[in-house]
Amino acid sequence: MKKIIFATGNKDKMREIREILSDCDVDIQSMKEAGINVDIVEDGKTFEENALIKAKAVAEHTDAIVLADDSGLEIDYLNKEPGVYSARYMGEDTSYDIKNQNLIDRLDGVPKEKRTARFVCAIAAVLPDGENLIARQTMEGYIGWEIEGKNGFGYDPIFYLDEYGCSSASLTPQQKNQISHRGKALRDMKEQLKNVLN
Ligand code: IMP
Repeated sequence: MKKIIFATGNKDKMREIREILSDCDVDIQSMKEAGINVDIVEDGKTFEENALIKAKAVAEHTDAIVLADDSGLEIDYLNKEPGVYSARYMGEDTSYDIKNQNLIDRLDGVPKEKRTARFVCAIAAVLPDGENLIARQTMEGYIGWEIEGKNGFGYDPIFYLDEYGCSSASLTPQQKNQISHRGKALRDMKEQLKNVLN
C-alpha cells in the first residue's frame, strides 16, 4: 500500500484528509506518526512557496509521498493582509477576538463592495521521484461588521458568505468542508494524485 505523510500536527486537518482520501488504497500518517520531527522555517512569500518548503523539508526524511498545506486570509482593501502572515498577525499569542476586532476596525467606513476577502489554501506534494505538485483553491467572501458564530476557528467569525448570509463560523463543519479553500484544495490534490496512487 502506498504511504502519504501529511506534514501537519493538526488533528482536524488529519481527519479531513483521511475523509477525503478514504476511497483510495493509501496509508495516511501525520509527521508524528511517521516519527519525523523537523523544525521548518516558513519564509516563503506565497502560500504555494510555504507549502512546498514544508513538503520538501519532510521529504528529505522519507521515501513516501509527502503533502503539506499553507493557508490564510487575504483582505483586498488591506493589500491582501494578513496573507501568509495570518497565523502570526499581531503575534501568535494574540487572541482571535482581538485580531478579528482589529481587522474590523481597520475597515471602518469601508462599504461592502470594497470589503471582499478570501481564504486561500495551497497544498504541495513531493513524490518519491522528486516531482512536485501544487493545488491552490479559495473560498470567496467579505469581511463583516461584527464577530459572529461559534464554529470554526481563526478568522471565521468575521468572514461572511453571501450565499449563506452568515459568517463561516456559523456553518456546520460539514457545510464548511464542502465549500472551504482547504476542502477544495484537498479534492484538487486527490485528482492530481490519482495516477500516482493507482
Ligand atoms: P495554517 O495554514 O494552518 O498555518 O493556517 C494559517 C492561519 O490562517 C490560521 O492560523 C488562521 O489564522 C488562518 N486560517 C486558515 N484557514 C482558515 C479557516 O478556514 N478559517 C479561519 N482562519 C483560517
